[in-house]
Amino acid sequence: MSPPSFEFDFNSAPGGGFRGRSFFSTGLFINNEFVDAVDGNRIGIVNPTSGKTIGIVAAATEKDVDIAVRAAREAFEQRWGMKAPPTERRRLLNRLADLVAENADELSALEALENGKALIAAKMMDVEGTIGILRYFAGWADKIQGKTIEVNDSKLAYTRHEPIGVVGQIIPWNLPLGMFTVKIAPALATGNTVVIKPSEWTPLTAIRMCELIKEAGFPKGVINVVTGYGDTAGAAIASHMDIDKVAFTGSSLVGRHVMKAAAASNLKRVTLELGGKSPNIIFQDADLDRAVSWAAFGALANQGQLCIAGSRVFVHEDIYDKFLAAFTEKMKSVRIGDPFLPDTFQGPQVTETHFNRIMNYIEIGKREGATVHLGGERYGAEGLYIQPTIFTDVKADMTIMKEEIFGPVVVIAKFSSDEEAVRMANDTVYGLAAGLFTCDVSRAISVANQLKAGTVWINCYGASSLNAPFGGYKQSGIGRELGEYALEHYTAVKAVHINMSASPPI
Ligand code: NAD
Ligand code: MN
Repeated sequence: MSPPSFEFDFNSAPGGGFRGRSFFSTGLFINNEFVDAVDGNRIGIVNPTSGKTIGIVAAATEKDVDIAVRAAREAFEQRWGMKAPPTERRRLLNRLADLVAENADELSALEALENGKALIAAKMMDVEGTIGILRYFAGWADKIQGKTIEVNDSKLAYTRHEPIGVVGQIIPWNLPLGMFTVKIAPALATGNTVVIKPSEWTPLTAIRMCELIKEAGFPKGVINVVTGYGDTAGAAIASHMDIDKVAFTGSSLVGRHVMKAAAASNLKRVTLELGGKSPNIIFQDADLDRAVSWAAFGALANQGQLCIAGSRVFVHEDIYDKFLAAFTEKMKSVRIGDPFLPDTFQGPQVTETHFNRIMNYIEIGKREGATVHLGGERYGAEGLYIQPTIFTDVKADMTIMKEEIFGPVVVIAKFSSDEEAVRMANDTVYGLAAGLFTCDVSRAISVANQLKAGTVWINCYGASSLNAPFGGYKQSGIGRELGEYALEHYTAVKAVHINMSASPPI
């Protein structure tokens, strides 16, 4: 069978942005060709804004993953790895960045179409982020270096930072393009080959990227994309005997499965970027306007569907009422609507399943006795929109204080001392990120030191940099992405010992 394809006419989309028709194959991308899945299975893609099925993509099973791994292994041994000069890897990654920039409008439109995020956010965050990540890791490709270790006059040792081999990667739906790039770029820069599975909800931009990967001139088999479901294609990657490392981003629940599967198969290396329930602490000496604005951004950006969402806000009792009043106004002022309209900040949630999950958490919050201070309902008569929601009177043991909701829902609680703020902030199984607002530099640094989180923002929230490491403490993950720190998770260190002495050992 010939692989499926996708066609969409953006000419009638509201607002500005991409004008034109998208048309591309939605087969699996293996050895630089679009091929059908062996069993011919399909996944339907739904536009969350209209609720309509807009296309189909191939659904890989274990058999397809196996074919992709063989392609990646052959490419690693013969065309990539230590066979491709580092300068060539750099050139290709930069070339891909150029092509993404040339196709930025179409990629942004596709991202908004399948995910429901605002077009402007897709462009500024996902697509610009993608270009930045590709260029950042392109820059590292020819700067991977080992060390020379002076042992003694008759012995020398040196290290090589070698690629690991074939890397399996599994990504979520909330930042489809950004996650795709944050995974492939460091892997490729260091000389690994890749088999990557996008989320079954949002595979389109990754597939469109495959055309650009081919156009950029990457050798066949270096990057293979297997769209498919988690419990089939994803599980096949995690348990594959010839994948050397698996990098996973998604929920902590599935992260556990991936780690178990890695252990039970070939003990492949594992890095995990998982969920969060991140605190945002507003001290009594904070610049209130700044705190309010960043706290609302931290809670609502990407429809609240961000691993780093600042979903627990802790406010000093002296400014609690004042903060809550201003924060409520800010949350209310956000424009909700069609992602393609130019002033939209908040679009629909990604799928009906996820919408229902968030609404269920809101019901649990009410049932357990928290107060809905703002929102708490569907926004509008139809569509997957949810009102920005603030819960007050939230106790430490309530479900909505503990579990990741992944929607535009924030819980607020009061504290009365720095010690109490730190204790409340750290009272979670997660440790992805944290924010704090204060004008006192000693308090800022002291609290930042005490927070158990992989990222701490002082006087802002959610503003990451491509050259700074990102990752979780506790159950938010293992390993780091972005920055120089990402490289160590894609290289294996080999120590080579050279003996210059003639004296025999026995
Ligand atoms: P998810 O865990 O449901 O799915 C993630 C990916 O895993 C998908 O591609 C899915 O198909 C696949 N999968 C599902 N079951 C699998 C299995 N048994 N074996 C292998 N793969 C399987 O997560 P999601 O709903 O797509 O994304 C939301 C979650 O991702 C949230 O918890 C969020 O915090 C997290 N996230 C974390 C980061 C980070 O960098 N820490 C970034 C974005 C999202
Ligand atoms: Mn999920």
